[in-house]
Amino acid sequence: MADTLTIMQTVHDTSPCKNFMQVFLADQTIEAQLWVPVTFLVVLFCLIILIKYWRVRNLAKRINRLFEEKKAVYDEYLVRYNPYYKSLAPRYKDRFLRRTISFIQAKDFKYIGLEGEEFMPLLISATAVQLTFGLEHYLLDYLRTIYILKDSYRYGMSEKPFAGHVSDEGIFLSWSHFLVEFHDYTDGENVGLHEMAHALTYVNFRVQEGKDDSFRKKFSEFSPLARPVFDRMRAGETTLLDKYAVSSFEEFWAVSIETFFERPFPFREQLPEVYFGLCNLLNQDPLSPDKIQGNVPVDDDNNKNFLKTALETFKF
Ligand SMILES: [Zn+2]
Repeated sequence: MADTLTIMQTVHDTSPCKNFMQVFLADQTIEAQLWVPVTFLVVLFCLIILIKYWRVRNLAKRINRLFEEKKAVYDEYLVRYNPYYKSLAPRYKDRFLRRTISFIQAKDFKYIGLEGEEFMPLLISATAVQLTFGLEHYLLDYLRTIYILKDSYRYGMSEKPFAGHVSDEGIFLSWSHFLVEFHDYTDGENVGLHEMAHALTYVNFRVQEGKDDSFRKKFSEFSPLARPVFDRMRAGETTLLDKYAVSSFEEFWAVSIETFFERPFPFREQLPEVYFGLCNLLNQDPLSPDKIQGNVPVDDDNNKNFLKTALETFKF
């Protein structure tokens, strides 16, 4: 009898059914253990997206509200201080203002040695918007901070004082130089445009955060047009471009931008290949009333596209 029981227990203990149940239960426990963190991660991911979306929607609303509130004041300032904006066809002025407000919202402005005033970010942001008006991506994403210094300053090992520069930390500008050089919009010297030109190549080629695919592609078409002029200048030829352009091809690019906007007539006459190369690269011609040449990038007045850009761009 005892033997029979032992056998039965043994049979019972080692039955395939029990093994299956144990494996099944163990599997279920592993699955349950896995599902908890997976569900948690999915919920967390959805929550982050929702919060981000909600914040971007609020940002879009804020930009719309600011546009309505500030339009008249900003228009007055820009007409007075920014000849490019002043010369824009009326239908492009709203577009320019919206872009400028978005740019201001995307950046932190820090003031060194002077008190910040509302029109400072406005005029500086307008310079970036002017340069990128024909491009789709105009927020220079990677460079989130703009330092406004009272006057020229020392930087690195250089003995020469700086009026502006661009580095990993952001865009630096001397406010006094910015104002003086915008005041004379005919001499081909404009530190605001110069530094924004550096900033544009910085985000497109050095860090590739905030890049514009069309700009990147067309830069390789612009270089062969500009290089021969750069080489001739380095060999001693004088052109309407400031001599500082010979320092490097990067400086040649930034100096060309200053002249492109401030002295477009003589530029087109004397160096047509470089001038039209820049028109193609930036998708705009400063001499045309509409400025933008090819396809007008869709974004500012279209909230959907703005949200898409903002999701990729703004820091939260
Ligand atoms: Zn430079």
